[in-house]
Amino acid sequence: MKRRAIVVVLDGLRRDMVGPEATPELHRFGAVATRFAAHRSVFPSATRVVSACFATGTLPAQHGLQGNSVALMEGSTLVPHDVGRPDFMDHWRAVRGHTFAVPTMAERLARAGLEAMVFNNVSPGAARAHDPDGHGWIFNRACSFAPTLRRLGAGEDIADVTLDTKGDRLLTTYFLDRALAGHEAALGVLWFGEPDHSQHENILGSPAAMAAIAGADACFGAVRRAVDARRAAGQEDILLIACSDHGHQTVDEVIDIDAAFVAAGLKAAGDPSLLAVSNGTSALIYLHPDRNEDAAAVLAFLRSCSWAGSVLEGDALAAVGQVPVDSLLCAIAMRSDDRPNEFGVPGMSAAAKPFAGKPDRLGCGQHGGLGAWEQMPFLMIEGDGFRQAALSDEPTSVIDLAPTILGHLGISAEGCEGQPMQQRRVVTAGHQG
Ligand SMILES: [Zn+2]
Repeated sequence: MKRRAIVVVLDGLRRDMVGPEATPELHRFGAVATRFAAHRSVFPSATRVVSACFATGTLPAQHGLQGNSVALMEGSTLVPHDVGRPDFMDHWRAVRGHTFAVPTMAERLARAGLEAMVFNNVSPGAARAHDPDGHGWIFNRACSFAPTLRRLGAGEDIADVTLDTKGDRLLTTYFLDRALAGHEAALGVLWFGEPDHSQHENILGSPAAMAAIAGADACFGAVRRAVDARRAAGQEDILLIACSDHGHQTVDEVIDIDAAFVAAGLKAAGDPSLLAVSNGTSALIYLHPDRNEDAAAVLAFLRSCSWAGSVLEGDALAAVGQVPVDSLLCAIAMRSDDRPNEFGVPGMSAAAKPFAGKPDRLGCGQHGGLGAWEQMPFLMIEGDGFRQAALSDEPTSVIDLAPTILGHLGISAEGCEGQPMQQRRVVTAGHQG
């Protein structure tokens, strides 16, 4: 039997949004899979970071990618960067000599002579975070790569995929034709752009946001039927994983942290020696080493701000898997609470104002912090080592997926921080609650 793992990610789908009406395909899958009731994202709970943690089985302190947006020391200046750009990984490698400090699943598979294929409809930078150095295949509407980072051109790429439900459907067709069939990749990852994209642009729980959830759910159903057909043919032992990378909260306030630093006299406008880099409902605060004597004043100011839900430094920073290296002073998990929005969807947060020109999502969905609802991705796994119709309440995290997948494929997960989820304690078996 050929062992394979297929992972379908419905970006941004909250666990409390999975149900018989909103997601009938996932609901039916949940009736035969093991469901993980205490699954969590990472910090920041943002797609590019989650992708790096998923790919490596480690937290940012280990793999080195601190955020969805980061600052890099270039020459002697801190420069903010959007990791979502198609060329960020190439720039990162040029600045520090390498990308991740630890291997990705794609690299581990390539060493074992196996193929990993990622079909991804979020940002090109998030797609490349699965395999920045070109060990397997990456497909994104903006850029696609064969092994050795050979750029794929017209006819081979997926440039006709759009960032909406229609695009996710086309992406699913490409995935089924090229990864599940076609190359018969040992690891196939299908990462939809929805419902994340629509939740950022609409009110959580609104008809438009719910339609995007339904669209992604239908795409998962198509994958599940194709996987079941291959299992039925009797030649393949496929681990099927359905999950999301983070949830969403409703943004009720947008804070320009850099402007607050200027108003507090901690920096002059435009001065890059102190930078607040937005990661949605969190922010990374960078301080140039020439200003280390100002660290206490910056931290004291942040602690005085009502919008800074928690100021993470020292042990608190380590507890979320980050380290104060590369000029990172601290991180902010923005204020959050459980109040409902106008559609009755709970979870409100302040958000950090993003780079000039990027939308601030006021009133719509956002994520990145430690709020209860953004830290509530869903996870269901079906296959060898997982009880059918089971519920596990043991804490699991994004970093547990790599060792689980590698274990299924018979490849060493040495160096992963996460733990394999096969044979986790199951609290109930039977119908979904
Ligand atoms: Zn995401």
